[in-house]
Amino acid sequence: MRVPLLLVLAALPAGAAAHGINGHVHVTGWAIENLPPGELRDFFADPEIREAAQIGASFPDSGYAIGDGYGELAHWEPFVDGYVRHLRARAPFDTPEERKQVAFLMGLAAHGLQDELFDSVFLHQVHEHDGPFPRTVNGKEYPTAQDPADPGTDAFLFTDGYLRFKPALFVPFDDVIAVMADVHGHRVERETIDQGMRRVKTLVIDRFHAIAPVYEREMRPVIPWTAANYMDPGIPGSLTSEIAPTGAYLQALWDRLHDRWPARAVVTHTWPEAPRRLRSGDPATVDSWITLVFGAGTINGSVNTETVRLLDAGGAEVPFSLHHTRWGGSPDDSSRLVQLRPTAPLAPDAEHTVRVEPGVRLQDGRVLDVPWTYTFRTPCADGQACADADAGAPDLWPPDAAPDAAAPDAASPDAAPPDAAVPDAAPSPPDAAARCGSGTEPHPDGGCGGIPRGPDASVGGAAKGDDGGCATAPTSGAAPLALLAGLACLRRRRRAP
Ligand SMILES: [Zn+2]
Repeated sequence: MRVPLLLVLAALPAGAAAHGINGHVHVTGWAIENLPPGELRDFFADPEIREAAQIGASFPDSGYAIGDGYGELAHWEPFVDGYVRHLRARAPFDTPEERKQVAFLMGLAAHGLQDELFDSVFLHQVHEHDGPFPRTVNGKEYPTAQDPADPGTDAFLFTDGYLRFKPALFVPFDDVIAVMADVHGHRVERETIDQGMRRVKTLVIDRFHAIAPVYEREMRPVIPWTAANYMDPGIPGSLTSEIAPTGAYLQALWDRLHDRWPARAVVTHTWPEAPRRLRSGDPATVDSWITLVFGAGTINGSVNTETVRLLDAGGAEVPFSLHHTRWGGSPDDSSRLVQLRPTAPLAPDAEHTVRVEPGVRLQDGRVLDVPWTYTFRTPCADGQACADADAGAPDLWPPDAAPDAAAPDAASPDAAPPDAAVPDAAPSPPDAAARCGSGTEPHPDGGCGGIPRGPDASVGGAAKGDDGGCATAPTSGAAPLALLAGLACLRRRRRAP
């Protein structure tokens, strides 16, 4: 009964992708480990609270695993904002259960932000460096950059030895169900969410080692630049570059939950972020784009070329095109970012300013009533020394030790395997980071350096369907692997209302 459902899910048309579920769990975990000393870092000192955020970071994609629209809706700020208002009455969140409920919300919200950043920023880098797409590799067509980048980056994380969080299963069902009904009028049963989350937990998080080698072998040759750069913190939208904006978003959510977050704080991160310079002044490349990240949803129609301006060192207007989240549709939609794409060359080694003028409307109804400005420098001209470029740039990688590093996350007990669809799946391997150290030691079923010797892709790997989505290719004896492949291909498909 589960097999047809999963195959149907895997074959649904794909209009948008995001980075993989393990990427969400880990970027969120790393962001928590990088929080500065203070109230929020203290909040996450308990490993159970951290795990609630990590499993929350897998939640939005669980809706796809069970074929229910709650997953798509949970990706976006209307749901997050409603959830914040729902939980706010419980502040200051004194009980362990309340703290786990808050952490879960933060995790699912972080997932949505990361999808926006990855899709709207990094996928353009993938297209430019590994594209153009569509392209055919080894006889297989990849319609867009997102097709190999989504499963590929999760596989690279596994192979490169970065995966170490396997959070325990936890879902605050009553809250999720209530907010989904209140904000979107969407009714979902507890059992539906439970099954969706168990599939994600078991098949994508705990058993990812079974499918990662398949993706590794297929995707690394398709997107070699991505494989080499997806963890470069200097490239906007890379997984490590998401750590800082994710941490800033967690802080904004914490303050929103306490009803003390001012609208003037709406911009929480920028690319480039000082002291890094813009990567290029050439408007022909994605490296010339400037991205502002918000700590809450902003209404697209209010973020326009009148409320957002780009000025050169002399104060003259620099022409640019303005873009919201990649999947933003109408002016009433909200985005957690805005992107300025210069349409004329930028002067080298020069300071530029972005101004956000009053009038920007937030998802919660408030309006920015003071201007916000930010300056950055362009790179030096070709052949010219630019010694201070990127000097002193924040280094969030590797992350600091967790607040109580003595209690490693991987030590948490896994939920009991709930899904009989994977009866012969291998047990979870020991923690990859601990096992592989520097990430160079190969092991029999893949991971930690080199091209792993995983199952033969021709036996049961993921394949792209004709419609651009993922399709499994189960053949004899490979049903469990095919199921894993289908789930690992989960992706966001459309914009929530
Ligand atoms: Zn997602």
